[in-house]
Amino acid sequence: MNYKKITLRRGKEESLKRFHPWVFSGAIATADDSIEEGDLVSVFAADGRHIGNGHFQVGSIMVRILSWGDTAIDDDFYAERLAQAWRVRKALGLMRPDNNSFRLVHGEGDFLPGLVVDVYGNTAVIQAHSPGMHFARKSIAQALVNLPDGVIKNVYYKSETTLPYKAHLDPENQYLIGAFDSDVAIENGLRFHVDWLRGQKTGFFVDQRENRALLERYSAGRRVLNMFCYTGGFSFYAMRGGAQLVHSVDSSGKAVSLTERNVELNYPGDERHKAFAQDAFDYLDTMPAGAYNLIILDPPAFAKHKSALKNALIGYRRLNAKAFSKIESGGVLFTFSCSQAVNKEQFRLAVFSAAAQSRRKVRILHQLTQPADHPINIYHPEGEYLKGLVLYVE
Ligand code: SAH
Repeated sequence: MNYKKITLRRGKEESLKRFHPWVFSGAIATADDSIEEGDLVSVFAADGRHIGNGHFQVGSIMVRILSWGDTAIDDDFYAERLAQAWRVRKALGLMRPDNNSFRLVHGEGDFLPGLVVDVYGNTAVIQAHSPGMHFARKSIAQALVNLPDGVIKNVYYKSETTLPYKAHLDPENQYLIGAFDSDVAIENGLRFHVDWLRGQKTGFFVDQRENRALLERYSAGRRVLNMFCYTGGFSFYAMRGGAQLVHSVDSSGKAVSLTERNVELNYPGDERHKAFAQDAFDYLDTMPAGAYNLIILDPPAFAKHKSALKNALIGYRRLNAKAFSKIESGGVLFTFSCSQAVNKEQFRLAVFSAAAQSRRKVRILHQLTQPADHPINIYHPEGEYLKGLVLYVE
């Protein structure tokens, strides 16, 4: 292809030979002068061998490789990659009358670095994380409505907060195709409002679907605390599972009202549920010991970058220590980390330290991760970000 050219330093093609799709700034020897943020580029090894084509970006990751060969990155390319992603989601059985929300594109996990697409009923919500994907948004939107089965009719673009601020792209959140139809989506038979216009991320955290279903199985007769509830996902599963009471807590008043609306949608007037807008640490400090025997801790990413790792691990330890010190004996704790910079072992060590500090007897019942619609590209292990432990606390 006649894309602008990037040549690597000698020996810097090693990780690319193993199909890892990122080119770091330090690996680049020369780049065409005219290259601009979001451009398509061709990457060459020092010996002149062509490696692949991808999107250029200013930052520590400078190229995200989209094709390992000289394929054109055009409308047909996006149509083909999205059709592959669609086939995988069909194979996963996620399109059913009782489930119409799922992640269709998970960045590198679907060989489309920089792109996330979540589907809620007939609406797809696109998030671009790279300028290249921002420029490709119209082509992606068209490919989405052309997918088989005619499921996707509306495409909403929501990248105001995900694109690099310095790129000055002024992305406007808007419908690229279609318009608002319904904001109610279904997950495992439970309904929820998705606020893709104003909500966090694409409006709902579809990545906890299977972990919520597991929680439902533990809920019968329990007193449940859903900490960091956001839209209340875990809460209405706990209610369906027969919980005695469910308290949802989030520091954001908006999240608390979303939770209340969602509980109302599934269990109108059910007095088992209450929601509180309060800081997690304050709530855990002041609640009476033994008030709950099923606690969910699903905080936001404490480490957004490697530099924040140490403080993040301290944060996870402190948070979990509070839960260990207060949960009733015989209680079950679902605890999560969605920080990509924290690996499974580090998270487990933080939780281990918290347990030891509380001197409780703790068993690991389940080790949880992200569901199959958030696949991990085997050559890009960084794509594994969600970690969870289910613990039995005596
Ligand atoms: N469990 C949710 C997702 C949680 S996202 C689900 O299943 O969908 C993290 C949430 O933590 C956000 O809603 C955010 O508002 C909330 N949050 C962030 N800091 C907090 C704090 N200090 N105390 C309580 N909630 C907090």
